Amino acid sequence: MEEIRTSFVNSSKSLVKAMTLPRDFADLAWDSLDYLGWRDPKAPARAYLVVRRDAEVTGIALNTAATGRPRRGTGLCDLCHTAHQITDVALFAARRAGSAGRAGNTVGTYICADLACSLYIRGLRDVEVPQGETAPPEVRADRLEERLETFVNRVLV
Ligand SMILES: [Zn+2]
Repeated sequence: MEEIRTSFVNSSKSLVKAMTLPRDFADLAWDSLDYLGWRDPKAPARAYLVVRRDAEVTGIALNTAATGRPRRGTGLCDLCHTAHQITDVALFAARRAGSAGRAGNTVGTYICADLACSLYIRGLRDVEVPQGETAPPEVRADRLEERLETFVNRVLV
Protein backbone atom coordinates (compact mmCIF):
# COMPACT_ATOMS: atom_id res chain seq x y z
CA MET A 1 0.00 0.00 0.00
CA GLU A 2 2.65 2.49 1.06
CA GLU A 3 4.69 1.47 -1.97
CA ILE A 4 1.81 2.50 -4.19
CA ARG A 5 1.44 5.90 -2.53
CA THR A 6 5.13 6.69 -2.84
CA SER A 7 5.27 5.53 -6.47
CA PHE A 8 3.47 8.57 -7.90
CA VAL A 9 5.77 10.60 -10.10
CA ASN A 10 3.51 13.47 -11.10
CA SER A 11 1.44 14.48 -8.11
CA SER A 12 1.80 16.65 -5.07
CA LYS A 13 2.15 15.16 -1.59
CA SER A 14 -1.27 16.48 -0.63
CA LEU A 15 -2.92 14.82 -3.61
CA VAL A 16 -1.25 11.51 -2.84
CA LYS A 17 -2.41 11.79 0.75
CA ALA A 18 -5.99 12.48 -0.36
CA MET A 19 -6.20 9.67 -2.89
CA THR A 20 -8.54 6.76 -2.28
CA LEU A 21 -6.83 3.43 -2.84
CA PRO A 22 -8.84 0.53 -4.25
CA ARG A 23 -10.52 -1.32 -1.40
CA ASP A 24 -9.86 -4.82 -2.73
CA PHE A 25 -6.19 -4.05 -3.18
CA ALA A 26 -4.82 -7.14 -1.42
CA ASP A 27 -6.88 -9.48 -3.61
CA LEU A 28 -5.88 -8.04 -6.96
CA ALA A 29 -4.90 -10.59 -9.59
CA TRP A 30 -1.64 -8.92 -10.57
CA ASP A 31 -0.74 -11.66 -13.04
CA SER A 32 -3.59 -10.71 -15.34
CA LEU A 33 -3.24 -6.96 -14.82
CA ASP A 34 -1.08 -5.00 -17.24
CA TYR A 35 -1.51 -2.01 -14.99
CA LEU A 36 -3.61 -1.13 -12.01
CA GLY A 37 -6.06 1.64 -12.82
CA TRP A 38 -8.93 3.12 -10.88
CA ARG A 39 -11.12 6.18 -10.59
CA ASP A 40 -11.17 7.97 -7.26
CA PRO A 41 -14.63 7.32 -5.77
CA LYS A 42 -14.38 10.56 -3.77
CA ALA A 43 -13.21 12.63 -6.76
CA PRO A 44 -14.54 11.05 -9.97
CA ALA A 45 -12.53 13.33 -12.27
CA ARG A 46 -9.36 11.85 -10.78
CA ALA A 47 -7.92 8.54 -11.83
CA TYR A 48 -4.74 6.66 -11.08
CA LEU A 49 -2.64 4.29 -13.08
CA VAL A 50 0.10 2.16 -11.53
CA VAL A 51 2.51 0.21 -13.71
CA ARG A 52 5.08 -2.35 -12.70
CA ARG A 53 8.36 -1.58 -14.45
CA ASP A 54 11.28 -3.88 -13.73
CA ALA A 55 11.49 -4.17 -9.96
CA GLU A 56 9.55 -1.05 -9.12
CA VAL A 57 6.12 0.44 -9.57
CA THR A 58 5.38 3.80 -11.16
CA GLY A 59 2.18 5.64 -10.37
CA ILE A 60 0.65 8.30 -12.56
CA ALA A 61 -2.19 10.57 -11.51
CA LEU A 62 -4.69 11.44 -14.23
CA ASN A 63 -7.46 13.96 -14.59
CA THR A 64 -10.45 13.83 -16.83
CA ALA A 65 -12.81 16.69 -17.46
CA ALA A 66 -16.29 15.60 -18.45
CA THR A 67 -17.77 17.91 -21.06
CA GLY A 68 -21.46 18.68 -21.16
CA ARG A 69 -21.63 18.20 -24.91
CA PRO A 70 -23.37 15.01 -26.01
CA ARG A 71 -20.98 12.75 -27.87
CA ARG A 72 -21.91 10.08 -30.37
CA GLY A 73 -20.09 7.38 -32.22
CA THR A 74 -17.23 5.19 -31.20
CA GLY A 75 -13.76 5.80 -29.87
CA LEU A 76 -10.57 3.86 -29.39
CA CYS A 77 -8.52 3.45 -26.22
CA ASP A 78 -4.96 4.62 -26.98
CA LEU A 79 -3.50 2.00 -24.65
CA CYS A 80 -5.35 -1.23 -25.43
CA HIS A 81 -7.01 -0.29 -28.76
CA THR A 82 -10.41 -1.51 -27.60
CA ALA A 83 -13.23 0.17 -29.50
CA HIS A 84 -15.96 1.62 -27.31
CA GLN A 85 -19.03 3.79 -27.40
CA ILE A 86 -17.55 7.27 -27.27
CA THR A 87 -18.84 7.75 -23.72
CA ASP A 88 -16.85 4.72 -22.55
CA VAL A 89 -13.49 6.20 -23.50
CA ALA A 90 -12.25 9.29 -21.70
CA LEU A 91 -9.55 11.81 -22.44
CA PHE A 92 -7.20 11.75 -19.47
CA ALA A 93 -4.52 14.33 -18.84
CA ALA A 94 -1.41 13.45 -16.87
CA ARG A 95 0.69 16.24 -15.45
CA ARG A 96 4.31 15.79 -16.53
CA ALA A 97 6.77 14.94 -13.80
CA GLY A 98 9.10 17.58 -12.35
CA SER A 99 9.50 21.16 -13.55
CA ALA A 100 7.60 20.60 -16.82
CA GLY A 101 4.56 19.59 -14.79
CA ARG A 102 4.94 22.51 -12.42
CA ALA A 103 4.94 24.75 -15.51
CA GLY A 104 1.57 23.28 -16.46
CA ASN A 105 2.60 20.71 -19.08
CA THR A 106 0.39 17.68 -19.44
CA VAL A 107 0.21 14.57 -21.61
CA GLY A 108 -3.24 13.67 -22.90
CA THR A 109 -4.38 10.23 -23.90
CA TYR A 110 -7.65 8.42 -24.50
CA ILE A 111 -8.11 5.44 -22.16
CA CYS A 112 -11.00 3.08 -21.41
CA ALA A 113 -13.07 5.26 -19.06
CA ASP A 114 -13.14 2.53 -16.39
CA LEU A 115 -9.39 1.87 -16.80
CA ALA A 116 -10.12 -1.83 -17.30
CA CYS A 117 -7.94 -2.38 -20.40
CA SER A 118 -6.63 -5.65 -18.94
CA LEU A 119 -10.15 -7.07 -18.76
CA TYR A 120 -11.12 -5.95 -22.26
CA ILE A 121 -8.10 -7.41 -24.04
CA ARG A 122 -8.67 -10.74 -22.28
CA GLY A 123 -12.40 -10.79 -23.09
CA LEU A 124 -13.26 -10.63 -19.37
CA ARG A 125 -15.47 -7.59 -19.79
CA ASP A 126 -17.93 -7.09 -22.63
CA VAL A 127 -17.82 -4.24 -25.11
CA GLU A 128 -20.85 -2.89 -26.91
CA VAL A 129 -19.34 -2.19 -30.31
CA PRO A 130 -17.71 -4.42 -32.94
CA GLN A 131 -13.95 -4.75 -32.54
CA GLY A 132 -11.43 -4.17 -35.32
CA GLU A 133 -8.69 -5.78 -33.21
CA THR A 134 -8.52 -9.55 -33.61
CA ALA A 135 -5.10 -10.37 -32.13
CA PRO A 136 -5.02 -12.92 -29.29
CA PRO A 137 -4.86 -11.64 -25.68
CA GLU A 138 -1.10 -12.34 -25.25
CA VAL A 139 -0.27 -10.22 -28.28
CA ARG A 140 -2.60 -7.45 -27.17
CA ALA A 141 -1.06 -7.56 -23.69
CA ASP A 142 2.43 -7.14 -25.18
CA ARG A 143 1.28 -4.19 -27.27
CA LEU A 144 -0.51 -2.65 -24.31
CA GLU A 145 2.69 -2.94 -22.28
CA GLU A 146 4.67 -1.15 -25.02
CA ARG A 147 2.14 1.67 -25.30
CA LEU A 148 2.06 2.04 -21.52
CA GLU A 149 5.84 2.33 -21.44
CA THR A 150 5.70 5.04 -24.11
CA PHE A 151 3.02 6.89 -22.17
CA VAL A 152 4.93 6.64 -18.88
CA ASN A 153 8.11 7.88 -20.55
CA ARG A 154 6.28 10.87 -21.99
CA VAL A 155 5.10 11.77 -18.49
CA LEU A 156 8.57 11.25 -16.98
CA VAL A 157 10.51 13.31 -19.56
ZN1 LIG B 1 -8.10 0.43 -22.82
